[in-house]
Amino acid sequence: MKFIVDRMLGRLTTWLRLLGYDTVSASDFALEGKEDEFLLRFAGQKRILITRDRTLRSRAERAGIRVCLVNSDAVMEQLEEMLSHYDIDLEPKMVRCTICNALIRKVRPKELGMLKREDYVPDALVEEGIEFWICDSCGKVYWEGSHWDNIHKRLEKLRERMAVERPLTKS
Ligand SMILES: [Zn+2]
Repeated sequence: MKFIVDRMLGRLTTWLRLLGYDTVSASDFALEGKEDEFLLRFAGQKRILITRDRTLRSRAERAGIRVCLVNSDAVMEQLEEMLSHYDIDLEPKMVRCTICNALIRKVRPKELGMLKREDYVPDALVEEGIEFWICDSCGKVYWEGSHWDNIHKRLEKLRERMAVERPLTKS
């Protein structure tokens, strides 16, 4: 499953990438008022269009494009809306850059010195020998720190809520 999302859904884009899904966002491109055409064209290439725009949803449906309308402002509720249409795996994965959507890879031992030059990577963690991942496309470095625990907790809550609200759809 691959997605393309409108520029209103920046946080949802981040979460879909955290879950490992290939997600193109209109906000990554300078589209100057041609956003709808861009979204419809890309969505035709086997991507599911996620949007908050009802008019765009109707256009996509008429064009035979798979489209999912989300209504909520809150990102976890947006994910929940998507879950009622698609079987999304709510397990975070270190596979995709949340900034640019490229695949990330494990940092090799000989590259660890390079991490210390990044202001946002704590030196202590590098010395501790934990695993890091890097995006070769934009240079962003990732690791499973306290933010990662937080991600797990929020997804766990969402899973619990889904189990209560839709017990019959669980297999
Ligand atoms: Zn990147």
